[in-house]
Amino acid sequence: MSAPRVVPVRPDFSAGDVEEILGAIRTSLETGMLAQGEQVAAFERETAAATGARHAVATGTGTGALVCGLRALAARGEGEVLVPANSFYSSAAAPLLAGLRTRLVDVEPDTLAPSVRTLREAVTPGTVGVLTVHLGGLISPELPEVAAWCAERGLWLYEDCAHAHGSRLDGRHAGRFGVAGAFSYFATKVITAAEGGMVVTDDDELAAAVRLHRNLGKPEEWRSHHTVLGENARMSELHAAVGRAQLRRLDEFLAVRERLARRYTAGLAHLPGLTPVLPRQTAASWYKYVVLLDPGTDRAALRAALAEAGVRLGGEIYEKPLDAQPVFESLLPPGRHPVADDLCARHICLPLHTRMTEEDVDLVLSVLPDALKAAAG
Ligand SMILES: *Cc1c(COP(=O)(O)O)cnc(C)c1O
Repeated sequence: MSAPRVVPVRPDFSAGDVEEILGAIRTSLETGMLAQGEQVAAFERETAAATGARHAVATGTGTGALVCGLRALAARGEGEVLVPANSFYSSAAAPLLAGLRTRLVDVEPDTLAPSVRTLREAVTPGTVGVLTVHLGGLISPELPEVAAWCAERGLWLYEDCAHAHGSRLDGRHAGRFGVAGAFSYFATKVITAAEGGMVVTDDDELAAAVRLHRNLGKPEEWRSHHTVLGENARMSELHAAVGRAQLRRLDEFLAVRERLARRYTAGLAHLPGLTPVLPRQTAASWYKYVVLLDPGTDRAALRAALAEAGVRLGGEIYEKPLDAQPVFESLLPPGRHPVADDLCARHICLPLHTRMTEEDVDLVLSVLPDALKAAAG
């Protein structure tokens, strides 16, 4: 097989970004200010401004952001958290790592997210909150209803925004619909710090508690006085410098992703065998361009045929439901989520990143029909 002509993801650093990042890192190295300094503080301020949140608290990873937020929420009441069955490992693991329980909930086929209907089916007297996920960067138009339903029942709503940098519903940024949102800056995300995470919230008490849990349970940064069982989930100055340079380019990245996504949508409109999952009322981050394959399509054969034609697909979001992961076999209560199961089994994500050109999109569109024929059931 020849080298791929189109790859699924690629981080984007301009020559100017590299200079800026190296300059900031040089300053950190020369001053010895490597942790919890001006870069982290500035990245937090800039993220709060970009999302419209009162507080932003940086962490070492996205998983750390989820866990620190959930530890802070666990102090308000222990119990069960509803998590969409078609999400990533961390969404289901974080409540368990925070001393809570996870119960999977089904999703809607057109938003990939839980709705009031699916939450009603899964909720129990032991439920304390909902961790929703903006899969692929789509915010469900039903999210305000979900938030209202949670508020009525005394449940908190926490948003896993790992895919949703810049995603907005009616102008409101991901992470701003519930009590808090958690972002990831892992290498594959819409913007990256190599590794990193961020909790955004308007809740003063929650932000203070997340800071405590992030920093070994210490109310004062540099004093060994510990008041809660925290962990070290801090972000380094060097990572914050990378994240800041990326955040400055986010709007530009979103415009490129939107343009490429529109080209896919136009090109796929008359192609039988698949249906794109498109945002409604939403400015999506376009972390992924998700398409549903007709039932009976052999996904492995499709991936192979595309690879043969020079187009490498990235991973699905996600290939199997969370309760099919061996680790969760004994950790989750039994439950049914047929829509999530079907979505997991039947979708692919087309290559989409800011280093792609329109010619790359056209290449994918030109090889898809034959690849679909090769994979038809
Ligand atoms: C990437 C991701 C995370 C975890 O982020 P890390 O920074 O890799 O720890 C959590 N949830 C979802 C949905 C993700 O895609």
